[in-house]
Amino acid sequence: MGKHDDTSEFSGREPIGRRLRALLRRGGSGSEHHNRRFIAAGLIAAIAAGSVLAALTGSSAADGTAERTDEDSMTLVQTSWEVDDVIDEIAAEQQAEAEAEQQARDEAEEAAKQSEADAPEAAESEPEPEPEPEPEPEPEWISPSDSGITSYYGQRWGRLHAGLDFGNWTGDPIWAIGDGTVSYASWMDGYGYLVVVDHGDGLQTAYAHASEILVTAGQEVAQGEELSLTGSTGNSTGPHLHFEVRVDGEQVDPLPWLEEHGVPLE
Ligand SMILES: [Zn+2]
Repeated sequence: MGKHDDTSEFSGREPIGRRLRALLRRGGSGSEHHNRRFIAAGLIAAIAAGSVLAALTGSSAADGTAERTDEDSMTLVQTSWEVDDVIDEIAAEQQAEAEAEQQARDEAEEAAKQSEADAPEAAESEPEPEPEPEPEPEPEWISPSDSGITSYYGQRWGRLHAGLDFGNWTGDPIWAIGDGTVSYASWMDGYGYLVVVDHGDGLQTAYAHASEILVTAGQEVAQGEELSLTGSTGNSTGPHLHFEVRVDGEQVDPLPWLEEHGVPLE
């Protein structure tokens, strides 16, 4: 057992208060303060019990033991004061820590409120740059009618049906599938009232069997413009649009041509 042996906390007289203080202060903060209070209470109880026991046994024991008992009693009183002091100090520390924590919470709360208050202003002063909306690209070609297809390009009754038929009702609009110039707008045998539009680059479209023509030859038309109204004029058994596509003067199947040019059809 050397002088610096800490395995016995109260092995000496002198350092009891210091050691107790050190023991009570050991460790961090928070709940350990409560633990130290219990340790302190336990230590005082242990010292008191030991002193009482020494006092009880001291009367019938040798002189040396009695002296020790007096010294122990002195030490107990001194230690109790010091423990009180330390507990007061710890209480003060706890109070300071609690105040610091409360201040930190208040500051955090204030900061949160401030940031909330700032948010709308920030949004106003620095609005998110909205992405430029992609302009809807104008389709190069559209369908001449929104009605369903009733007859396809091909041989029919021993001769070529050179167009695509749309099952319109009489009076339904017929649209130019693209910008161009009206090259024909009149009656033609077999076709009845017929409109032909020249789109340039050797491309022509024809719209037949109209009940009424709305454009004149030489007129420039825009894509989607009404050329005529559906009818059953010419060689026709009922109201419909007969639509033809001519490439460099040759009649082509309008359905694959329209599909190849991005026009969705039923
Ligand atoms: Zn037809």
